[in-house]
Amino acid sequence: MSERTVLDHEVIVVGAGVAGIYQIKLLADLGVDARVLDAAGDLGGTWYGNRYPGARFDSESYTYGYSFSRELLNEWHWKERFSSQPENLRYLNYVADKFDLRKYMEFDCKVETLHFDETNDLWRLKIANGRQLTCRFVIMAVGLLSIPTPPRFQGMDRFKGRSFHTFYWPHAPVEMSGKRVAVIGTGATGIQVIAEIADKVGDLTVFQRRPNWSAPLNNGPISEAEMADIRSRYDAIFKTCGRTPGGFEHEPDRRGFYEVSREERLALWDKLYDSPGFAIWLRNFREIFTDEKANAEFSEYVAERIRRRVKDPAIAEKLIPRDHGFGVQRVPMETHYFEAYNRDNVHLVDISQTPIEEITETGLRTTERDYQFDVIVYATGFDAITGAFDRIDIQGRGGAKLRDKWNDGPSTFLGMLVHGFPNFLMPSGPQSGSASTNYPRGIETGVNWCTNLLQYMWAHNYVRAEPTPEAQERWTDHVKQMYSAMLMRKAKSWFTGYNSNVPGHEHGKIRYLVYNGGAPKYVNKINEVAEENYQGIVFTPASPPDQHQGGEKVSLVEKMPS
Ligand code: NAP
Repeated sequence: MSERTVLDHEVIVVGAGVAGIYQIKLLADLGVDARVLDAAGDLGGTWYGNRYPGARFDSESYTYGYSFSRELLNEWHWKERFSSQPENLRYLNYVADKFDLRKYMEFDCKVETLHFDETNDLWRLKIANGRQLTCRFVIMAVGLLSIPTPPRFQGMDRFKGRSFHTFYWPHAPVEMSGKRVAVIGTGATGIQVIAEIADKVGDLTVFQRRPNWSAPLNNGPISEAEMADIRSRYDAIFKTCGRTPGGFEHEPDRRGFYEVSREERLALWDKLYDSPGFAIWLRNFREIFTDEKANAEFSEYVAERIRRRVKDPAIAEKLIPRDHGFGVQRVPMETHYFEAYNRDNVHLVDISQTPIEEITETGLRTTERDYQFDVIVYATGFDAITGAFDRIDIQGRGGAKLRDKWNDGPSTFLGMLVHGFPNFLMPSGPQSGSASTNYPRGIETGVNWCTNLLQYMWAHNYVRAEPTPEAQERWTDHVKQMYSAMLMRKAKSWFTGYNSNVPGHEHGKIRYLVYNGGAPKYVNKINEVAEENYQGIVFTPASPPDQHQGGEKVSLVEKMPS
């Protein structure tokens, strides 16, 4: 029996998180037949998982919300400057309900295979339950950090207490009071969990392999009056986010590091240390990111702040990173994290000295001794950015596997398209702006651009779009070039594709995953391509009888802002 060539949907969006919700909103507005499939039990992506205590934004809440609807902006009250997971999930549900988007979404739909049918210019999807679907376009809204990577210790399934990766923190409350708890991992997640549970558990033991630079979040409530003020300034706020490299309100200090005196530098740093959010990272001198000496001086300043906060000098020294400078990895923001180590019930184990050998029935064993626990928390990170793609059998033209193509690192055009994989769009793909900016600001750019591309194709009755290998190579070279100036290229972090729990990614061989040129440059580059009739992309017209769904309708709709 020959395979069906009928399209089930014009577009299938994979993922119902922050990007997928906005993507389906635009497609629904255009009247396009589109569906969103998500492997999880409900919408929300990162905010549906990650229910661990302490999970909250490091972005100012009001810069994280969607900007597309004035009504939505006027209705929603962010209660805290850095809002917590339950509220963030409520917000995404509110958006989906307000715009009646749930009807386009299906959950518990894990996409297992995605194969391009060259004869018919369509994608064939297979879902975990065996169901098959076809569509013209696939939009991968799969998130940057959606594939948790537990460690690979021996005996993990033997443990008789409760254990979970932070992404899979149980939905029902976990009884912590009086319990002996282990947290393995001290990245942004571990730091949030540790600070939050330190005074709620019986005993907390932190297993740290490498410390991370971290600084105070300086969170606080947002009153009705403050929210009214924020609402009146939304245009200006989003404009600022649009012109800063990271898509935040934080603008770098444009004075040269060496042009000002040491006293002036210290005065700035004292101010930034007490300022909310990423100010300490992103309002700093730009040399922090590129100049070893400037970075070392600032790192020593932060080390001194840590020493002042941790009573035991030996513990303080263990919490100060030695293998990388401040800000060359993603900076975790904390609330009383360092003070947690002043508590009698909190213990720090340096597993770079005494590695974990195995998980036992009752706890774990390091090279030094046995520990007994009721709960083990794995805060061990994610197979970042390409992980969600690698988990799906994605085959493009000629049966080429994306996983193989990206084995040594991804190569893309604008972070949104891949040569050999037609009609495959990634609004927040590797090498796109989303990966290195305040996420919703980045995804709005990516989703708008992808939607404009689709409208262009529908208006011209094109059925296939694919970037040329030359255009892709130029973009990937540009992405690599952007890394070359950054100290981050030397650090073992997910920005460079390092993950000790993923075979092949554990040796720190650099993979160019994020766009480091800053949001304004990225937006200019992708807009230039669009303005030049998508130069770098080859389009195939439909054969005469082939009429896609909704063509006339969508071609009348105005272009989305990029
Ligand atoms: P992460 O930054 O990759 O940190 C993972 C931690 O686990 C590291 O301390 C790592 O040690 C340790 N680890 C991993 N495997 C281990 C093993 N086998 N044995 C011992 N230790 C191990 O992951 P994350 O903390 O989940 O954060 C990932 C990203 O998520 C962040 O960078 C951030 O972008 C995002 N995030 C955002 C927020 C927010 O916006 N508020 C909050 C949390 C996370 P090594 O350093 O030695 O590898």
